[in-house]
Amino acid sequence: MKPLRLLNFAEGRWVEGLDHSDIRSALDGQVVAQTGSRGLDFGAMADYARKVGGPALRAMTFHERARMIKALAEAVMAQKEALYELNFQTGATRTDGWIDIEGGAGTLFAYASRGRRELPDDRLLIDGAPEMLSKAGGFIGQHVFTPLQGVAVHINAFNFPVWGMLEKLGPTLLAGVPAIVKPATATSYLAEACFRVMMDAGVLPPGALQLVVGSVGDLFDHLTCQDAVSFTGSAETAVKLQAHPVIAKDSVRFIAERDSLNATVLGPDAQPGTPEFDLFVKEIVREMTVKAGQKCTAIRRAFAPRPVLDAVQDALTARLAKVVVGDPREEGVTMGALVSLAQRRDVREKAARIAREARLVFGDLEKIEIKAGDPEAGAFFSPLLLRCDTPWEASEVHDVEAFGPVSTIMPYEDLADAVKLCNRGQGSLVMSLFTHDPEVARDVVLGAGAYHGRLLIADRDCAKESTGHGSPLPNLIHGGPG
Ligand code: NAP
Repeated sequence: MKPLRLLNFAEGRWVEGLDHSDIRSALDGQVVAQTGSRGLDFGAMADYARKVGGPALRAMTFHERARMIKALAEAVMAQKEALYELNFQTGATRTDGWIDIEGGAGTLFAYASRGRRELPDDRLLIDGAPEMLSKAGGFIGQHVFTPLQGVAVHINAFNFPVWGMLEKLGPTLLAGVPAIVKPATATSYLAEACFRVMMDAGVLPPGALQLVVGSVGDLFDHLTCQDAVSFTGSAETAVKLQAHPVIAKDSVRFIAERDSLNATVLGPDAQPGTPEFDLFVKEIVREMTVKAGQKCTAIRRAFAPRPVLDAVQDALTARLAKVVVGDPREEGVTMGALVSLAQRRDVREKAARIAREARLVFGDLEKIEIKAGDPEAGAFFSPLLLRCDTPWEASEVHDVEAFGPVSTIMPYEDLADAVKLCNRGQGSLVMSLFTHDPEVARDVVLGAGAYHGRLLIADRDCAKESTGHGSPLPNLIHGGPG
């Protein structure tokens, strides 16, 4: 297929960048798209958002904005098949794409519905009851929310090019704030295609959305106290961006969702043979293989009582042996490729670091048998299960995120030990616990709640309806310390 030429959308126009970098398919290394943003006037883009997009959005009520968001979601759903075609080039299976594409549209639908159900058909949002400030009640205080009068800069990670963009746009647009979106380059052709669908829907006021496919140039130099940066990606990039002098000098709001060494715990009651044991095993394999483990919420560390660790290992390896890696367009393939050869090198290097403290009990760092596709030109990678029997003597297993199908099992001595080991990851997006004992659940929530953005407690009763460990839901807060 002829490479797509990606365009920026700046100051109300589609603009080609002056530079051209190639983006290659995860499946065969062929060039899928060319991208670049050199030549854009980033200061003018920020001004355009503030002067044109912001006033137009702020003139709308919450209900009007919610209806606009719903129309965007409908447009994405109407064009989903074209997006699924591009999704394969990122290495993702149809199921992975469903989470990204329909999950993204679903997130917009959820925000649209909350906007109409929970917010007023007004432009001002009352926050709580009036505060009585005088004896006779003639003088009161009232907290209210009004929209920021700047621009939201969304810098997104490569792994969910659609959902990652839409989960930020939903609340931003509902709040009446325009956005400049910068997708990660590796999968920007899918984000750009979805962005086009939203522009073509014809429901956004001018200036509400702009797109940068490539570097953000000197955009940060132009940010003000009315702007916000919402970043998703690696801790390394987050630290670099947050250190930009304008962020501190002008108090620019900076939100980062970044590396996360998510943990799961098998409760002491969940012995082999219980439904919770089986759910635990199933969930670890699901988290390792969905999106080839390239999920910020994926389980990286799994803790089980020391006496049952062998049984956990046996059950996991038996299940992992059934995973079929290969070209996701091929019937029967259950895990696709990593996003790029560069990502494969990175995962291999990180997994090798973890393997200095843990032994590999499933998979191969170098080799992979695939059902269809080219194992060299495609970024295919084996699921890797590691085992570390001395978790308190290890550091890499708790600190290094191998952003692929890589997970480490470890023993704990008692529940307090399990909680401390989970917290050893310095805060994560999500932690899960498999138990049928409410006392175990209570102890873990009290001990680990402060360190984790979300805690999923799973047992036989909720399993049928549970969305699982790794699904950030628009009804709940996504994020967490670290
Ligand atoms: P990354 O390399 O840090 O890149 C993230 C984003 O930052 C990309 O859009 C990237 O653009 C951009 N970027 C890089 N350097 C920049 C700079 N100097 N100025 C402005 N933008 C810059 O991360 P990634 O490899 O895409 O994503 C993987 C990571 O994301 C993992 O660590 C994962 O844990 C994390 N993640 C976290 C969450 C969460 O919700 N917490 C969700 C998904 C992923 P280019 O691609 O053009 O370089």
